[in-house]
Amino acid sequence: MSQREWIEKDFYKELGVSSGASADEIKKAYRKLARDLHPDANPGDAKAEERFKSVSEAHAVLSDPAKRKEYDEARRLFASGGFGQGGGGFNPGAGGFGQGGFDINDLFGGGGAAAGDGGLGDIFGGLFNRGAGGGGATRTTNRPRRGSDVETETTLEFREATLGVTVPLRLTSPSPCTTCHGSGAKPGTSPRVCPRCNGTGIVSRNQGAFGFSEPCDDCRGTGSIIDSPCEVCHGNGVTNRTRTITVRVPAGVSDGQKIRLAGQGEAGLRGAPSGDLFVTVRVRPDKVFGRNGDDLTLVVPVSYGELVLGTTVSVPTLEGRVGVKIPAGTADGRILRVRGRGVPKRAGGAGDLLVTVKVAVPQKLDDPATEALKTYLEAEKASGFDPRAGWAGA
Ligand SMILES: [Zn+2]
Ligand SMILES: [Zn+2]
Repeated sequence: MSQREWIEKDFYKELGVSSGASADEIKKAYRKLARDLHPDANPGDAKAEERFKSVSEAHAVLSDPAKRKEYDEARRLFASGGFGQGGGGFNPGAGGFGQGGFDINDLFGGGGAAAGDGGLGDIFGGLFNRGAGGGGATRTTNRPRRGSDVETETTLEFREATLGVTVPLRLTSPSPCTTCHGSGAKPGTSPRVCPRCNGTGIVSRNQGAFGFSEPCDDCRGTGSIIDSPCEVCHGNGVTNRTRTITVRVPAGVSDGQKIRLAGQGEAGLRGAPSGDLFVTVRVRPDKVFGRNGDDLTLVVPVSYGELVLGTTVSVPTLEGRVGVKIPAGTADGRILRVRGRGVPKRAGGAGDLLVTVKVAVPQKLDDPATEALKTYLEAEKASGFDPRAGWAGA
């Protein structure tokens, strides 16, 4: 008998048992049918003889655990659309699937992530393994689905973001149920393989020459049945839980940056791996510092006289203060660089602190200062300084 004939015959139906029937049930069903249909009991009845042959054939396969397993798997592949409609040829094109509008993505979770999760590969892989004559390992196409990724946001102070900080994040999201540890089964019990779909989550329905696949109703496509559901999560294996996780934000993170925390997203159903957590970092502006990549920026107010004569001013850094030497004759708006006092770099070291000098002009002077300034301007003029010398607008 060819493989195709094999999978097109429903041996379970022949024996009138379910696809999850035990060996004992199969044996009993066969014995009864064999007795009723035996040619000795039905002399001259060709129909009964034909049925007797079919029943014997079905029993020969289903009573042998190895053969039964192979039969189940072959049927599953056929049902999955692995075999094209005509002549048993395999058609990798779209036409090979879904004579009934069956979308393979429906089966494997719809999401892009699920499609990459080995669903298609399993079908193809299984098919080619069989074609090569191998026994083929039993595959479960309906793997537990990975949990979803979770996105959240946290706002940091400027200095926290530049220096790195550990922050607690409160998240409300589905998490593995602590009562059943995500299995969905009441503690002390465990889920069993769905007998109808043999754990595949998929059942086939034959209509004429075509086989259709659809999610198994008995297990809702999960492949397993929970007889006593966990009372806390009602069998989902997941509960909504508010949890606080501690997130270590690396030094030097900037506004809008995303941090990925692997495995901290939503729990997968029934013990599947969790998704990831993505934290978007918002950074509050600082009153003193600005940022330009790894460099910190800072504006320091100075007087005109300080720029002319030169001085040393004390400016803040992320950690403490530093003295910045302003050379005599420094122009207003000049940027002075203090090496290594900027934002810590991930690879080690740090950017620079860029100090911009900005003249603060007094709005009001007392008489002695006003007099002194007038005297000074006279002297400045006498020394030959003309602020508009060489100016294009002069
Ligand atoms: Zn539970
Ligand atoms: Zn099922």
